[in-house]
Amino acid sequence: MFDTLSDRLTSVLKNLRGKGRLSDADIDATAREIRIALLEADVALPVVRSFIAGVKERAKSAEVSQALNPAQQVIKIVNEELVGILGGETRRLEYAKTPPTVIMLAGLQGSGKTTLAGKLARWLQGQGHTPMLVAADLQRPNAVNQLQVVGERAGVAVFAPEPGNGVGDPVDVSRRSIDEARRAQHDIVIVDTAGRLGIDQEMMQQAADIRDAVKPDETLFVVDAMIGQDAVSTAEAFRDGVGFSGVVLTKLDGDARGGAALSVRQVTGQPIMFASNGEKLEDFDVFHPDRMASRILGMGDMLTLIEQAEQAFDAEQAEAAAQKLGAGQLTLEDFLEQMQAVRRMGPLQNLLGMLPGAGQMKDQLANFDEKHLDRVQAIIRGMTPAEREDPKIINASRRQRIARGSGVAISEINDLVNRFFEARKMMQQMAGQFGGFGGGGNRK
Ligand code: GDP
Repeated sequence: MFDTLSDRLTSVLKNLRGKGRLSDADIDATAREIRIALLEADVALPVVRSFIAGVKERAKSAEVSQALNPAQQVIKIVNEELVGILGGETRRLEYAKTPPTVIMLAGLQGSGKTTLAGKLARWLQGQGHTPMLVAADLQRPNAVNQLQVVGERAGVAVFAPEPGNGVGDPVDVSRRSIDEARRAQHDIVIVDTAGRLGIDQEMMQQAADIRDAVKPDETLFVVDAMIGQDAVSTAEAFRDGVGFSGVVLTKLDGDARGGAALSVRQVTGQPIMFASNGEKLEDFDVFHPDRMASRILGMGDMLTLIEQAEQAFDAEQAEAAAQKLGAGQLTLEDFLEQMQAVRRMGPLQNLLGMLPGAGQMKDQLANFDEKHLDRVQAIIRGMTPAEREDPKIINASRRQRIARGSGVAISEINDLVNRFFEARKMMQQMAGQFGGFGGGGNRK
């Protein structure tokens, strides 16, 4: 699910990498491509519009972080907007103050309600609850039996009309199930209602009657993510006909475009609470908008890295360093500060491991010795402020003193100072060629 969308977005964002600054035209072009990717994935047009508008406005505005380069900023904005359309915060189930908590499932036939009932019950059981399933789908001949099978697999109780009692009245069964739950001390009741292949008035009325009889604490609208644009109209019909407090996306394991599912939250205003991604009982989880967004962007670790960078870097300090760098005036003091900021983000090995393509550098990463950085820091700390500011003054006797103070060989100091001069020379040349560069690419 979302594979195509994910591929498209990843490649659009990849094109931004390496750009020193983004013009409004760059942002417009990127936004256009994101728009096409979303529409092709079946995301509803109004949702696409507000998404694109949000991304464009934020990318063009002064909302910039000195710690990130332009590509990272756009990734961050797209990610945050995506988290936004998916609902922002993870929404947890709300339990009744006095048990039982009543959860009612509604949705079209085949959307995965019965399967979900089993998954949800088992998940709740894992959290220490004692759920009971209620067969209120008395429309389909086999539905009661199917729920019983699911209940058995999940190892939870099922309340169903006694066989031979005729079809039975789903409203009555639902009402009686609450008494039964109290009696048998089930703290949660999950009511599986009937669905139809399409929306019809009778089905809506029955669901509404069940709702009035059991007064659910949560009504979950179950929707098959593979039904495309119909997901939106079905959701609207259920919202108006029965009302619901949360959405469950099923069949996320399918290979359809799935974008319609991404629209449901925005269109109905209700949060996506759970996601089902397979036929087995354990193919189910709480829906986390942030995790889903980073999965869609295919750059989960990259986002973590961006967050850490923002926390570790002092924006003004980074900006000042970038300017000095651009002018070829970087000192060892700046170098030390930058290095400390980077190291505050965690072991460098982990950090590098989060970069795209790190998989291919596994061996180098494994051999990377953090102690080397400790030694570089020790050397710079062993210098006086004047030496850090202008390493040219570090003559032979100063080198000896620094080596003694920081416990390293003189040759290491020579190495560091020489490499520093080389780097600075290179930067000066580049600054001359490109008119300055550095972390300030977001400045317009
Ligand atoms: P109901 O009519 O709404 O109760 O839907 P069912 O629970 O009977 O599900 C309809 C079909 O979809 C069944 O064959 C299920 O095994 C299948 N199904 C349900 N959820 C998922 C899912 O998350 N992934 C996949 N691949 N199949 C599912």
